[in-house]
Amino acid sequence: MDISLVMDTLKKRIMIHRLIYVIFCFHRLALQFNGAEVELRDTIVLLTLVGICFGIDTVFLHYDYFDNIKVIQGIRFVQCVIATVMLVFFAFSSDSEIMIFNMIILFFTDFFLAQDVQDKEIIGLYLLLISLPIIAGALARLVTSLYDGGMLMFFNLLSVLLVISSLVVFVNGYLLNLYHRMIEQRFEIENLNQRNQKVIDIQERMKTTNMLLNVQKSDLQYANRKIKEANEEMVAQADILHFISLSFEVPKISNQIVEAIMRVKKLGFCAAYIKEDVYLNKHANYVIRTDIAQLQSKIKDNMEAIYQNMLAEGVNEQVVYDDVQDKYLFLKEVDINSVYVRLLEHEGELYGLFMLGDQREHLFDDELSFYDAILAQYNIAISNARIYNEMQYMARKDGLTGINNRVYFTQLFKNTVENIKESDSCLSVALFDIDKFKSVNDTYGHLAGDEVIKRIASVTEAFIDQYDGFVCRYGGEEFVAVLPDRKLEVAQPIIEELFEELCSQIVHYEEWDIPMSVSVGLTSYPEICENTDDLLKRADWCMYYAKEHGRHQINVDDGSIQRD
Ligand code: GH3
Ligand code: MG
Ligand code: MG
Repeated sequence: MDISLVMDTLKKRIMIHRLIYVIFCFHRLALQFNGAEVELRDTIVLLTLVGICFGIDTVFLHYDYFDNIKVIQGIRFVQCVIATVMLVFFAFSSDSEIMIFNMIILFFTDFFLAQDVQDKEIIGLYLLLISLPIIAGALARLVTSLYDGGMLMFFNLLSVLLVISSLVVFVNGYLLNLYHRMIEQRFEIENLNQRNQKVIDIQERMKTTNMLLNVQKSDLQYANRKIKEANEEMVAQADILHFISLSFEVPKISNQIVEAIMRVKKLGFCAAYIKEDVYLNKHANYVIRTDIAQLQSKIKDNMEAIYQNMLAEGVNEQVVYDDVQDKYLFLKEVDINSVYVRLLEHEGELYGLFMLGDQREHLFDDELSFYDAILAQYNIAISNARIYNEMQYMARKDGLTGINNRVYFTQLFKNTVENIKESDSCLSVALFDIDKFKSVNDTYGHLAGDEVIKRIASVTEAFIDQYDGFVCRYGGEEFVAVLPDRKLEVAQPIIEELFEELCSQIVHYEEWDIPMSVSVGLTSYPEICENTDDLLKRADWCMYYAKEHGRHQINVDDGSIQRD
């Protein structure tokens, strides 16, 4: 119930109060002057109390104190006290008991009416319960007073009717308010329901929007992942291109490519095989990367056979998803479900095999363009490396003999000397010159002479190779052999053996058997020749010493030879 409604009700009830006060006064005065045995003193006190109540109501109504519920509660309480005082001191002794009952009911009603709005129903019920015995008592008094008749009965009846009608009005107002409240509550509930429905609708819409957002989010995530993968692929390709442009070393290039693929694709394994003699390589080259330990050697052992099988079957490329383990027996007991194999080919020439495998199924369905791009670069790299190696080979080798030329020897010798010095090791150098070669040319012709030079070169190279040394054609018919990490006493028997072998050679040219002989100078660092810059010079001195002392001999440096 609204608090302003209570105010209004209380204000309206002031009129009933006034009527009761007036009736009370008339009733009392009628009692007093009708000869009833009532005390004048009591009449004065009662009328004064009623007057006070009248005054209080009037003052507070006039000055709008009724706008404050607390003030009303206070007023009604004071009035209840006054009515109680009247009941206690005057009822049943002053013949105004009905009046006093009426007033008590009146004040109590108003007092309770002014109480907390929320508890009004309970207070009203209590009031009714309390009022019933009082009303019953009042009615009983009324019936007995009927016998007194006349004016008194009229006033009593009037007073009771007013109080009862006031009660009826109050109860009616209360019920009406209750009804209004129920309707209000129903409206509120309906409003609440409507708002709830709206909230539910909004929630539903939010749920749908959220679901759409989630779908979009996962689409975006997928697109992002794809972009990231494409980006990584591009970076890997750029890395590979960059590396290829810097290097002609095929093993390193293979390594770089396999590593880049593993980094981007995170496969079970990735392997590249290049057969021998592709880029002047004496042995086949394998690069295998896998996290599956037992697979490394198995792949190496099987790659050549797979290459040969594919060559025999005329299959250049295949993707295997079904029965992988049956097709590649070495993959048994390994969780590999997708395999991609491809022959490496450049300008129609097949030179190796590229193989990928992973646990994921159907992995290579839309990935092949990435590998196509990489393998295209790989082919170009191999081709470039081959051209580079061939050119380098030609630049390093002597045109007639095929052994190292002097230019390359100078570089090799310099590197070897540096290494020897760094490791505090030793090396021996032997310089060979064919004896009386001019007469070979003169006797058998230049071409025959060429054959002799070629024989000396090939025998010397093959022999020195066995001792991890290297040789070169130093001049027209002069050769140098270097034996790293061999001191003089180790090198001397080797060179002596070589000397014997060279001198036992006979070149068959046309109808002639051409014998040959060499003179050799041998020196060694650091035991004889302390300065590496002097090694070739001292070997030359020794060789000339041999020439001067009859040829066909080895002259071993003892440090004593000096020439200008
Ligand atoms: P010695 O025993 O003193 O070394 O006598 P030699 O005749 O071997 O020495 P000389 O320096 O007088 O002659 C070297 C000859 O080698 C001269 C040159 O024509 C010849 N010669 C140099 N290079 C070649 C070549 O590539 N082929 C041929 N057939 N002869 C060559
Ligand atoms: Mg010579
Ligand atoms: Mg000579």
